[in-house]
Amino acid sequence: MKIIDRIRNSGPFYSLEFFPPKDRSQWPRFFQTAEKLRTLDPLFVSVTYGAGGHSQENTLEITTLFAHEGYCPMAHLTCVGALTESLTAYLHKLADAGVYNVLALRGDPPKDKMIVWDACEFSYASDLVSFIHRKFPFLGIGVAGYLTPHAESPSFAADRRATANKLNAGSDFCITQLFFDPREYFEYVEQMRLLGVTKPIVPGVLPIQSMESLRRVLSLSACSMPAKFFLDLEKADREGGQAAVRELGLVYAAKQIKALLDGGAPGIHLYTLNMADLCLQLADRVRNLQE
Ligand SMILES: Cc1cc2nc3c(=O)[nH]c(=O)nc-3n(C[C@H](O)[C@H](O)[C@H](O)COP(=O)(O)OP(=O)(O)OC[C@H]3O[C@@H](n4cnc5c(N)ncnc54)[C@H](O)[C@@H]3O)c2cc1C
Repeated sequence: MKIIDRIRNSGPFYSLEFFPPKDRSQWPRFFQTAEKLRTLDPLFVSVTYGAGGHSQENTLEITTLFAHEGYCPMAHLTCVGALTESLTAYLHKLADAGVYNVLALRGDPPKDKMIVWDACEFSYASDLVSFIHRKFPFLGIGVAGYLTPHAESPSFAADRRATANKLNAGSDFCITQLFFDPREYFEYVEQMRLLGVTKPIVPGVLPIQSMESLRRVLSLSACSMPAKFFLDLEKADREGGQAAVRELGLVYAAKQIKALLDGGAPGIHLYTLNMADLCLQLADRVRNLQE
């Protein structure tokens, strides 16, 4: 089933994002984590896609196993440097395995490589969306959106137009990059609606695990966060260490989720960091706030 149909037929939901563990010996533990999180009744589970080599096969294998386990899986798929033939083969493998949803992304070039985008078969995510929509119409397609504009976007307006283009090219819904201020989400949705986008925009939320992991995520995602919150987290770290950071992060994220759902967000895409207990504690806090 396409995720968009599940979204249309659902009340507020959680969806869960996982990354394939690098080391295969960690897979049993990874699947235990996913199983624990099943209590959140996720509308879908998504698995990220690395830039090359084994990681792509891992995404295929893990989403396949998720499909067998009765989840609704979505495979992330990037098109940077990809060729039509290999993409076609990969998409067939996904469909044959019962994975009917894809998050269509451009991806980033490897650090040591310059890419001339216009010389690529697929220059932008919108090219990948059009291709999948045309050749694999039975697949559901999601795309990424950026509240803090994507680092390469020349302006907020250009960023929003690029996201509207990929939604109009045949994708069904958008998942946002992580962010921390719910007001930014509602403003973003308003801007997209003014561009004629009516498709669901699912906010991505990160529970904070530690300062170290937060710094890594911030540097990879290039998102921004309220300076006051960052300073409060640093203070918590100095005074109470990781446990205090985690606690403050949980309190903040629970309020963020409540505000998003109260304001009409269709659901919450949780960046799980492959951490079951953290996400379950967060969902408990949200439930307590809602009661
Ligand atoms: C929810 C989410 C999940 C992600 N999962 C992964 C993952 O699994 N693996 C991974 O490697 N990366 C992942 N990423 C990161 C993503 O690959 C990078 O952010 C990448 O740099 C951009 O991908 P995109 O699909 O947003 O690109 P695009 O939508 O193609 O945008 C890239 C840039 O090009 C600009 N642009 C778009 N179209 C045009 C045009 N026609 N003309 C000129 N400029 C244009 C955009 O404004 C933007 O600045 C994820 C990001 C998000 C938000």
